[in-house]
Amino acid sequence: YQAKRQKLPACVFEPWMGRVVAEQLHIAKRLASAIAAKQLSLHFQPQVDLHSGQLIGAEALCRWHDEELGDVSPGKFIPIAEERGMIVALGSWVIEEACRQLAAWREQGRSMPGQLAINIAAQQFEEDDLVTGLLGCCAHFGVEAKQLSLEITESGIMENPEKAIAMTEVLKSKGLGLSIDDFGTGYSSLAYLKRFAADKIKIDISFVRDMLTSDNDRVIVATIIAMANTLGLETIAEGIENQNQINALLAMGCAQGQGYYFDRPLAAAKFAQRWLS
Ligand code: C2E
Ligand code: MG
Ligand code: MG
Ligand code: MG
Repeated sequence: YQAKRQKLPACVFEPWMGRVVAEQLHIAKRLASAIAAKQLSLHFQPQVDLHSGQLIGAEALCRWHDEELGDVSPGKFIPIAEERGMIVALGSWVIEEACRQLAAWREQGRSMPGQLAINIAAQQFEEDDLVTGLLGCCAHFGVEAKQLSLEITESGIMENPEKAIAMTEVLKSKGLGLSIDDFGTGYSSLAYLKRFAADKIKIDISFVRDMLTSDNDRVIVATIIAMANTLGLETIAEGIENQNQINALLAMGCAQGQGYYFDRPLAAAKFAQRWLS
């Protein structure tokens, strides 16, 4: 946009660009060692039934605290991991840690109802040994495949829809749950959606945030819910922050939600203390 504003050709190199690249490289190097040393952690955000407020599952969200950089948000480090070929290693660790945590809760006598959702990047879906890795991890920790659900973004699916469709059929046959994340922000076609073996659609946070003030966003949410119902898919709303959103979602036929209104993503011990009996 800067090039446009100054009416300069788009290829002009300015000093700030060099700084951005250098900063990214620095973060990437530190991230690589954090992944290798298993210094990331997982937080857990409850997913609830909007009628009863009861826990129906949770989403595992990756966290990184670096000694020098402090807390780095996944919005920043996940794209870096994706761009620099580290997301498969990061994702494998997430899978392992999620299984380890489920096993630890079980050993503490605190069972997690429903499924634990794990975010899976498009590049992980390209890996033929994703399924073997997942099942191996489940077996190692004594976790059942049906205790896990995978979240893949709508745009992630569209990077290679045929591959994603083939992959989901295998995953479904092993009992794993499957949700389409950030739904409404990508450009998926209904033809693919119908063939993609998902069982749930996550309505993107941006629509949930604006649906009470924007007619367009409310119509989009209503349309997503109606479409999901037609295709026999469940829906869950992301980013719920107040009761008015819950009322509107229930009226439109969406009965599952997640958001700060219920709780923020929490460290494992805090999550267990607040949400697991
Ligand atoms: P996502 O999977 O769509 O996760 C939802 C994001 O919304 C999370 O941000 C969560 O903390 C935030 N959120 C939940 N409720 C609310 C709310 O009520 N209000 C607001 N404003 N935000 C809310 P987070 O943890 O920063 O993660 C951002 C994104 O990073 C995730 O979006 C996901 O795409 C990615 N990510 C996080 N962990 C992993 C991971 O282990 N693997 C991969 N591949 N991606 C991950
Ligand atoms: Mg997610
Ligand atoms: Mg999302
Ligand atoms: Mg997101």
